[in-house]
Amino acid sequence: MTDSYVKAVNSGVTKTLAKKLGLPRPAVLRRFRAGDPLTVGPVLVLGGTPGVRDDADRVAEALLAWDLDVRQTADDTTRWGAVVVVLSGIERPEDASAPVLALSASLRRLAPNGRVVTISRAPADTDSPELAAAREGVDGLLRSVAKELRYGATGNGIQVTDDAPVDSPNVLATLRFFLSAKSAFVDGQLLRVGAGAPSDQGAPSGDQGSGAGLDQPLAGKVAVVTGAARGIGAQVARTLARDGAKVVVVDVPAAGEALAKVANEIKGTALQLDVTADDAGARILEHARARHGGIDVLVHNAGILRDKLLANMSADKWDAVVAVNLAAQLRITEYLLGANGFSSEPRIVSLASTSGIAGNRGQSNYAFSKAGVIGHTRAFARLLAAPGGPGGTANAVAPGFIETDMTASIPFVQREVARRVASLQQGGQPVDVAEAIAFLASPGAAGVNGQVLRVCGQNVVGR
Ligand code: NAD
Repeated sequence: MTDSYVKAVNSGVTKTLAKKLGLPRPAVLRRFRAGDPLTVGPVLVLGGTPGVRDDADRVAEALLAWDLDVRQTADDTTRWGAVVVVLSGIERPEDASAPVLALSASLRRLAPNGRVVTISRAPADTDSPELAAAREGVDGLLRSVAKELRYGATGNGIQVTDDAPVDSPNVLATLRFFLSAKSAFVDGQLLRVGAGAPSDQGAPSGDQGSGAGLDQPLAGKVAVVTGAARGIGAQVARTLARDGAKVVVVDVPAAGEALAKVANEIKGTALQLDVTADDAGARILEHARARHGGIDVLVHNAGILRDKLLANMSADKWDAVVAVNLAAQLRITEYLLGANGFSSEPRIVSLASTSGIAGNRGQSNYAFSKAGVIGHTRAFARLLAAPGGPGGTANAVAPGFIETDMTASIPFVQREVARRVASLQQGGQPVDVAEAIAFLASPGAAGVNGQVLRVCGQNVVGR
């Protein structure tokens, strides 16, 4: 599935015409290719105080260790591949002024497909009103900066909880994801990152890191992906396999042929199964144990649409959507946790949707199911992290408009609007969602738990 408008406004006569008419001109996004540099140019780290070794210096040192060209002073000639603004030290709203104005001065020199990443402290229940104001302010700042960026550049933020240093492996892995081309369609998002369970901490997932295993952060792991015969699920399976996982792909028997193709392509195994079956969890576990020894990563991706205005909603349309998109996820996860079905600390990623965050006309059933996914994700996250709990993480990914068969069925005008009302002015590709899921499944994301990561190009829908 492609968005031919993006191609047209980036080539030849149509490019000139679009410019003259003032039409939206979405950029061609830089996506991950093995061997490409992490960023499109040098990285500027702002927020430091000269003469004092502070968090900005710690972040700069960590970036240097990745062999990046890192600077802490701006100049008038460099085209920045990324600007990282370290705001972890701000305690009063007034403290943000200097680093933010330094960012302001360097924004014009940000390269196409560049990155702005803020690193700040996550608001905490114990914050004084003044500290809460300063920390929460970063949220509005980041989301606004992201909306001002052009030419495929994105802005995202990391909110580090008070228990983790800014240069901890979890924070650095998240920073690496945001800096990289893997986050091409993640824009205007803030991820909360904590210390995570010490036993689950690993090296940052790498696309150009040094040392053994960084290119394959999921080596030795077994992943199950539902709804993997096509679209986002098939791409998730490919991406997890690229990262070293053995993948069990699951889909309904009617999609068996396409499913077998995906399984062969990635040297995984196929399980034909309707996820709403009563014994779905048991059959997944039985297959994974028999063929691969167990399960480490579970991706709940299978989903359906049955759009109708609520006034015209039938019981079968409501029930089918809730059964596939929500109840099946709940039942399978509960079964696997209850049966000690995970061989290591579980990594569970569930597909939500921006419709579940903002609601959508004609999608009350779908939005109920996707908001429900966010609900169980947060509840499972608490359960996993509780003292004596199994550890691991549960997170949700909320795609905006992604070019798949599912969205190809949306009427043309609605589809065109959905694409252009995002800061990146285009729909995403399945690989964009897959990269976000692969990041959440990687050892470096041990400190990300109970979060909803939007992959939506900063769609105006909801927050
Ligand atoms: P898709 O329709 O292209 O693929 C969904 C797959 O799930 C299909 O292969 C289908 O056979 C399978 N499936 C459906 N019911 C199943 C069942 N009962 N048991 C097993 N497999 C089943 O959809 P997609 O666009 O790739 O979406 C994947 C996920 O992402 C869904 O959960 C969807 O709600 C979510 N999502 C998609 C978008 C988007 O823009 N495409 C946006 C937000 C959320």
